[in-house]
Amino acid sequence: MSDNVLEVKHLRIEFPTRKGTLVAVDDVSFDIKEGEILGLVGESGAGKSLTGAAVIGLLEPPGRIAAGEIIVAGRRVDGLSNAQMSHVRGAMIGAIFQDPLTSLDPLMTIGDQLIETIERHLHLPKDKAKERAIELLARTGIPAPEKRLGHYPHQFSGGMRQRVVIALALAAKPRLIIADEPTTALDVSVQAQIIDLLKSLTAESDAGVLLVTHDMGVIAETVNRVAVMYAGRIVEIGPVAEVLHHPKHPYTKGLMAAIPDMTESGEFLHQIEGSMPSLAKIPSGCAFHNRCPRACERCVAERPPLTERGPQHSVACWLSEKHDASEENHD
Ligand code: SF4
Repeated sequence: MSDNVLEVKHLRIEFPTRKGTLVAVDDVSFDIKEGEILGLVGESGAGKSLTGAAVIGLLEPPGRIAAGEIIVAGRRVDGLSNAQMSHVRGAMIGAIFQDPLTSLDPLMTIGDQLIETIERHLHLPKDKAKERAIELLARTGIPAPEKRLGHYPHQFSGGMRQRVVIALALAAKPRLIIADEPTTALDVSVQAQIIDLLKSLTAESDAGVLLVTHDMGVIAETVNRVAVMYAGRIVEIGPVAEVLHHPKHPYTKGLMAAIPDMTESGEFLHQIEGSMPSLAKIPSGCAFHNRCPRACERCVAERPPLTERGPQHSVACWLSEKHDASEENHD
């Protein structure tokens, strides 16, 4: 049996409009194994959050899955009804969003929310569900968890609320966790604690994690593998150390060059010229060609397929193969 907790195959997400169909995610494929954290990174509008929303069955209409398959722990879930997907979500997928308040009911105590989730999905009696709720809060670093069960979400700080959301995401022992910008709304000092917590708890639970973020720093700290998205497609995917230290796609290189280097004071950061195209104006050929310093005629005319360039490392760029040897001599 496969140990993949998530398989996404040739996913295509479309938005029908009066002026035609817009393709927001195009032919995206990846998988996540038990205990693995895969980062999905890119600028706003790259399609990374939509991919996460499709996996969890929370794609906002008129967005729709137009093609492809999503398989969670061996079960195909694209095309399930809302009611079926709601059950899968509760039992097999945990969700952590940027704003903890989207995951928490402001009118219920966090104890009631945790206990209800545990009772419903793990079929435990109330007293056992309560014990598990206290244990989860303790494991996520909430002081005096027994007392805190009776508190409402607004009685927690932002960082503590995100810890509660992580406890709730893990409550039903999910196989997969979708974390969409889980630290973006938090103070910098709290971000590292939440990342550490996410890492240690997912390792303990053996769940797979899809971490959606625009932040290369979070990627570097957290994930095992990373997929870089641009204009709805994966342009580079591979082991995190490989992609971060030896990026092969010009877009990934641009993202890396934009990260401040604390050891090099006075260095100017390199910015990628231009901006992500809108869905209505995705360029022909390689969608990055109008921002790419290396674009050639072929890049304008033909779209490069995602092609293996090393162990588990694939890149969608016409030039990556040709330039690998010469670049690595300069790295
Ligand atoms: Fe740049 Fe061409 Fe590679 Fe696209 S295919 S990233 S335009 S070199």
